[in-house]
Amino acid sequence: MTTVNIISLNKTYPNQLAPVLKDFSLSIHDGEMVAFLGPSGSGKSTLLKLITGIERPDSGDIQFDGTSILNIDPNKRGAVLMFQKSYLFPFLNVEDNIGFGLKVQGMSSESIRAEVKRMLNLIGLPGIEKRKSGQLSGGEGQRVALARALVTNPKLLLLDEPLSSLDTSVRMNLQEAIRNIQRELGVTTIFVTHDLGEAMAMSDRMALLLNGEIVALDKPENLFHRPRSVAAARFMGVSTFLDGNQLTVKNEACSSSEKLFAIRPEHIRVQKEGCENSMQGFVSDCVFRGEYIEYQVDVNDATVRARMPMPAPMFPHGEQVFVNFPKEHLFEVQN
Ligand code: ADP
Ligand code: MG
Repeated sequence: MTTVNIISLNKTYPNQLAPVLKDFSLSIHDGEMVAFLGPSGSGKSTLLKLITGIERPDSGDIQFDGTSILNIDPNKRGAVLMFQKSYLFPFLNVEDNIGFGLKVQGMSSESIRAEVKRMLNLIGLPGIEKRKSGQLSGGEGQRVALARALVTNPKLLLLDEPLSSLDTSVRMNLQEAIRNIQRELGVTTIFVTHDLGEAMAMSDRMALLLNGEIVALDKPENLFHRPRSVAAARFMGVSTFLDGNQLTVKNEACSSSEKLFAIRPEHIRVQKEGCENSMQGFVSDCVFRGEYIEYQVDVNDATVRARMPMPAPMFPHGEQVFVNFPKEHLFEVQN
């Protein structure tokens, strides 16, 4: 059971000009799962390396339950890291892979066997003790890697894009499994991903990372419905921003022309007729996705992206249409 405090971390790699992490601070509650969402190069893996001790920060502190871990040996910190690739020992069977850390700690073989069995039940793969790790599917390999990470009762579980190389169905399965196991054990967890849906499905809170800084940190549903800044909104799939002058009919939130407003693509209507808050444009793309239709409409110099649930009209390329921004779905954002 661990509370994690990350305090004003700074990190610049040798021979690099730009810092990877800038005055980075974050507190994670005991038993919480925080997802880190950010584009490639935003510093996600670096943060995990600083926590495990693979790298050292230039300044700042990392504390577990109020005590700094920076001067503790990496293998004694109690933070375990799981990667996109499982890195199981190919010459060992599943039991020996999972039990490896316990053996190093000097646990008796009988206790190790019992612990491995408990972990295999937990990950939903009972009875595969004697299988060689080379005979596991990608999804099974990641489950075993998770068991190996958790068997030592770590203080903090760090998952660095662990599902990125898996097929969608296996991936969804494992998202659910990891989430359930994490809740059952109550282990404090950081989950790094670049997949928005995955981050929302898995986490108690999400941290949006851009260039080594947290742009926003909140519950997934709050970030989804009401991101406060343009940067946070873009992370959450919003691409349409309007200033107050462009709106004819306003709600209370957007009564000022000075302010900037955003709207989610699924709330924009693409229609033949104009109405309040409409803009005229020409269809540049219209894609049938089964459950919804995706539109791109050129309006003045900008492209408006919208999606409407079925049944919705298909329009030919170049068709003149109106995009309508219903006032109840507009929300204010800071630039
Ligand atoms: P992410 O995991 O979000 O993709 P990383 O933390 O791996 O980002 O990398 C952040 C930035 O730091 C990148 O620009 C990357 O090239 C750079 N970087 C990462 N590791 C090193 C290293 N060992 N030496 C120099 N630069 C590095
Ligand atoms: Mg990374």
